[in-house]
Amino acid sequence: MVNQYNPKTHVGEQPIRVLQNNMTYWLHNTSEEFRRISLHLAEQKKLNVGIVYRIGCDPINSKDENGNPNAPYISHGIIQLHESFLSYLWCMAYSIYNSHDTLIRNERIRGKVGLEIFEVDPTVRSRLETIISVFAYGVKLINEYYPWDIKTLPNPEYFSESDQDTIGKINAVYLSAISFILCHEVAHSYLNHSERKIQEYRKVGKIDTNFQKSLEQESDLKAIEWLLKSPPDGSIEYTLKVGIIVGACSLLFLSKSVNSNTHPDTDERIKYIIESCLPGDNSEYWALACIAFNLWDDLYRVGLEWENDINQTYEELFKDILNQ
Ligand SMILES: [Zn+2]
Repeated sequence: MVNQYNPKTHVGEQPIRVLQNNMTYWLHNTSEEFRRISLHLAEQKKLNVGIVYRIGCDPINSKDENGNPNAPYISHGIIQLHESFLSYLWCMAYSIYNSHDTLIRNERIRGKVGLEIFEVDPTVRSRLETIISVFAYGVKLINEYYPWDIKTLPNPEYFSESDQDTIGKINAVYLSAISFILCHEVAHSYLNHSERKIQEYRKVGKIDTNFQKSLEQESDLKAIEWLLKSPPDGSIEYTLKVGIIVGACSLLFLSKSVNSNTHPDTDERIKYIIESCLPGDNSEYWALACIAFNLWDDLYRVGLEWENDINQTYEELFKDILNQ
């Protein structure tokens, strides 16, 4: 077995602690643009170098004694991340990426992206069962805290040698997803959103929902621009794009509704992220989004109608879901 945990260097209660030091390293090494901009913001005292890594065994929906959420946010130039959210994000990276790998690459399903597939062989079935267990653990963290059972469930800390390759891929997708979230938070600072909100309030006496949503969209687009501007090589570019989509899709599972008062509606958000930022041959990316919606549909029993047309592209399928 491989055990990545080193008590001297890894701080935290949850197995995700083993990737703590990789976060900023990964981000600085994948995006030269981000590195340049964050140093510039730090010089201007608009951003504090480093991240507050919050430790604890609390669910994502709980708040600390100051009323701060466990979802990522930036306050006074400091990015706050909580372990439970990071564990959740890793589980979403695992579920979405592996569903894609297992189902789409195997061409087991075409028109219908569903986990209930028929006549699957035992290997595929066992992989799907593992995916469902990891997904179930991740979404449980939204409202309740349970320790990660590292002896039975895939995780980044403790795994067999034969799983090393898969865990490495999931770690890379997870680190790309967290890079997107960090860039999004830094973009708020870079684009002077706090100041612009104050100006807006002075001008019209309130912060309009559409104004608030437009700032969130600006941050999303800026984050993607930084990440994809100069990726070091082609192979990382694919992982980064998958990570961006996983990062965006992971917001979906936090609630049964896609509507929000503060952020663009999650379905529209995923759509513009794929459309405006990942042009070209992007069918694989639409497939990832379809998988996320399928998992969400199963989780909250939303009751989406899934078109079972083998000639339909994943982009068409996604837009069909969006219209519902
Ligand atoms: Zn934001």
